[in-house]
Amino acid sequence: MSGLARGVEERVITFDDVVILPGLSRLEPLEVDITGKASKSIAIHNPIVSSPMDTVTEWRMAVSLARLGAVGVIHRNMPREDQAEQVGLAKSSSPSPWSEIPKIDVEYDARNARFVLEEVGAGAAILVSKGEILGFFVLDRPDAGLWLEKARYTSLYISRIRPMPTIDGEGRVVVGAAISPFDVERAKSLEKAGADFLVVDVAHLHNSNALSALAKLVKEVSIDVVAGNLGTREGVLDTLSRVEEIGGVRVGISSGSICSTGEVAGAAVPTLTAVLNARSALEELGLHGRVPIVADGGVRNPGDIAKALVAGASSVMTGRMLAGTEEAAAPKIRVGDKVYKPYRGMASRGAMEKRYASDRYATRSKMVEEGVEGLVPYKGPVVKVLYEIAEGLKAALGYAGAVDIPTAWEGRLALVSPSGGKEVKPHDVILG
Ligand code: 5GP
Repeated sequence: MSGLARGVEERVITFDDVVILPGLSRLEPLEVDITGKASKSIAIHNPIVSSPMDTVTEWRMAVSLARLGAVGVIHRNMPREDQAEQVGLAKSSSPSPWSEIPKIDVEYDARNARFVLEEVGAGAAILVSKGEILGFFVLDRPDAGLWLEKARYTSLYISRIRPMPTIDGEGRVVVGAAISPFDVERAKSLEKAGADFLVVDVAHLHNSNALSALAKLVKEVSIDVVAGNLGTREGVLDTLSRVEEIGGVRVGISSGSICSTGEVAGAAVPTLTAVLNARSALEELGLHGRVPIVADGGVRNPGDIAKALVAGASSVMTGRMLAGTEEAAAPKIRVGDKVYKPYRGMASRGAMEKRYASDRYATRSKMVEEGVEGLVPYKGPVVKVLYEIAEGLKAALGYAGAVDIPTAWEGRLALVSPSGGKEVKPHDVILG
């Protein structure tokens, strides 16, 4: 290709390199349907899938996400019996969005300080500060007026999006679980425990041994298996040609916020490019829209998520946006007067040490660390993050002129120049 060095075939781009071009909107943002898919048979009303990471998704996170219309994938950094037990705990939890609604203390939520959810059984949430009730946050329910009347709510953010839980045919919480393509026993025991879908959790699935193992594994289970991670068109084509039944593709290589593969190994396919590559492969096979693309890693806000959807994804996987929440699977840590939660890559030293100590079936295929360990600010219950995402996505798809995710795929992304990129973010003011 002209302009690129010999041997350099392509240019890879990611979220900050593009903008969504506005299109003709036919609906108000609130009416936009953001229902996506985590796999062929798993529809989710909020197209967010949590990363299977040991500082993010255990059963509590999975249950809260399902209650709010998204879905969680329980990590595999534990013995297979424990992971199956986690699945069982999620499946036996109430799917009601109104049960176990978490609290938000405005002290931890300075910028958006608006509400505290409390289990009041009425779909209302209470905002408190230093033990004092400040007001109510009300989800769209017929009895909402009652709560509003009692509340001093002038500065409150009132969301009109009503959560629609992700439930199975029997009304139970839907939950996913991570697997290695080489561990058929784990996959079978997770299915037996009630997992609704499985997600392959290897850094580079485009590997002959891994694909042969996966081809065998999918024949042993009857639930969807999402294959990943993949990044190139060829990777997706090879996976689909070698593995008969694929429930979806999980794409993005080295885009995660805690990921160091790009540095350590020099290999990467940024998530937006990985989605475009996967879409091109699936379109070639006439399967785009039938085999969902799960865009994995690197999203920081609803705008990035919307760009991944417009590029062709059916849902977006994130660890970073959920890691600071109450439900994330790591304890809070106080540093001075600030509260954090640990967040680490699954190929970081700490996570790998845990895996080899706790899972006697884990095989060490690589010695090198490809992830880092860090902290993220604590941000209260996950309900708040999911509402911000849902509201942001509805607005973004509205700009794109879409009424739902499949029509968003007809939307347009445009490359943005470096100066254009600066202009489309807040600039030339001192941010308070
Ligand atoms: P984030 O939401 O933090 O940007 O990205 C999360 C994603 O990073 C995960 O879903 C997973 O695909 C990827 N990931 C998790 N741990 C590691 C790691 O240690 N190394 C690499 N290369 N990727 C990781």
